[in-house]
Amino acid sequence: ILMSENFQVIVIGAGPAGYVAAIRAAQLGLKTACIEKWIDDNGKCKLGGTCLNVGCIPSKALLDSSHKFAEAKHDFSIHGISSNDLSMDISKMLERKNKIVSQLTGGISGLFKANGVHSIFGAAKLLANKIVEVTDPSGKKEQYTADHIIIAAGSVPITIPPAPLVDDIVVDSTGALEFKSVPQKLGVIGAGVIGLELGSVWARLGSQVTVLEALDDFLPAADLTISKETFKTFKKQGLDIKLGTRVTGSEVIGEGDNRQVKVEFTDSNGKTEMLFDRLIVCVGRRPLSENLLSPDSGVNLDERGFIFVNEQCETEVRDIYAVGDIVRGPMLAHKASEEGVMVAERIAGKKPQINYENIPNVIYTHPEIAWVGKTEQELKAAGTDYNVGIFPFSASGRAMAANETTGMVKIIAEAKSDRILGCHIIGPSAADLVQQVVIAIEFGASSEDLALTVFSHPTLSEVVHEAALAVSGHAIHIPNKPKRS
Ligand code: FAD
Ligand code: NAD
Repeated sequence: ILMSENFQVIVIGAGPAGYVAAIRAAQLGLKTACIEKWIDDNGKCKLGGTCLNVGCIPSKALLDSSHKFAEAKHDFSIHGISSNDLSMDISKMLERKNKIVSQLTGGISGLFKANGVHSIFGAAKLLANKIVEVTDPSGKKEQYTADHIIIAAGSVPITIPPAPLVDDIVVDSTGALEFKSVPQKLGVIGAGVIGLELGSVWARLGSQVTVLEALDDFLPAADLTISKETFKTFKKQGLDIKLGTRVTGSEVIGEGDNRQVKVEFTDSNGKTEMLFDRLIVCVGRRPLSENLLSPDSGVNLDERGFIFVNEQCETEVRDIYAVGDIVRGPMLAHKASEEGVMVAERIAGKKPQINYENIPNVIYTHPEIAWVGKTEQELKAAGTDYNVGIFPFSASGRAMAANETTGMVKIIAEAKSDRILGCHIIGPSAADLVQQVVIAIEFGASSEDLALTVFSHPTLSEVVHEAALAVSGHAIHIPNKPKRS
């Protein structure tokens, strides 16, 4: 085994947690290496992790393509635009997605060069005494040492015994980004974020989609008002979401192109079977912590396999940190990147903190669903007194002009102080609208602060303004309940 250089910082993993940490550390003048094992079809190292290669970016590329198709098919006519003879070239859609991914992953290589981050290709294992062993694709091992180590090895899809993956028939989220044709009947196990996003992609392109969800509640992490509205909206769009469903088995039947998958499940009606052309299993992700730590590395996992860290992402070994999907908290790219930045800056002697209470969540369906902070049911359970303001997009002139009137903005503020505690949106551009309230919360704003802010007319953000006004019963463009002076 070769013993190579010492670095001030070694980052394991080049996803949004790791590559961002590496760039920030190098910006701060630290001699930094980033180790990545992701291998592309040509045997080359690919940076960007789950998010860029098989996650956020490719899924949004397909969501945007399929949305344009569905919009042209169903919604253009109301504007007087005819779109007969519409067709979709799936291979072109996939080609566009792949091009965007390559552009972005290549962009990270460029950023590494520009910032002086040393890129190392291979699988890393953390040994004792801050030694990192890297095995390259040919099997050659090399060891590096570092003053500080940041583990950012990310997560992988969970598989379940009743639905093992089979070729391109029973797939995880990665396979669902690659279907070569539109499956006529598509099954989805799990009505979480991936199930809704990727289920929507193929439903818009013509699949008949059935979603099998184990829980009785739909989107339990979302505010109840929003999850109810979301369920109704998706039902109208043709997603058949079966709650309280336990998948007990699956079997691929038929030959060649005619292969189908038979799925057995139990629900309140008892045992049922359904036949699908394709099945997506998206029941959550798990931390990728195997083959990563030698037993004497000193870094411990929690009971669910996540690397155990404190609020500052410090492991139990001094100068070893872990960030992103491999630690507690939401598995979101923006949370991962902010943790990467925080740790790089703390290594350099700065003292930033992340406000874990103020991390936005988005589901990129159409309409979008987005929220931040506390839900009404959480506040009720905690016994907090609060006021709620709701404003529907159907009362917004701009939403009407855009023919995008589904949904609402709901703002919740603490009764005594009027401090904003949460914002919950289903509607057009919800992802960008919620960010306005994320900023307000970060600045400690009250609903009155938002109410006193001038919003451009006519914009969708006026719906945020009116929801803030509604908290104290002052909304202008809907009757307020109760009417307040
Ligand atoms: P990852 O992105 O998983 O990166 C970890 C990297 O470490 C990988 O490249 C891996 O190869 C590498 N690695 C692992 N072990 C080793 C080792 N031993 N040696 C060397 N390298 C190693 N989040 C959002 O916020 N918004 C979205 O819209 C969104 N959409 C998503 C859509 C899909 C279909 C999926 C699957 C996920 C989506 N996510 C989204 C989640 C997001 O992708 C993750 O939260 C994010 O990628 C986590 O970043 P990370 O750097 O912690 O881990
Ligand atoms: P998820 O946790 O969002 O949803 C999984 C769903 O599957 C849950 O509703 C769960 O109750 C259900 N489930 C679990 N086991 C089941 C079983 N045996 N049968 C039927 N249903 C079952 O997970 P996901 O959709 O796989 O996504 C993984 C993670 O990736 C998410 O938690 C999220 O953090 C991240 N992600 C984020 C975005 C985004 O931010 N827009 C998009 C995609 C993925």
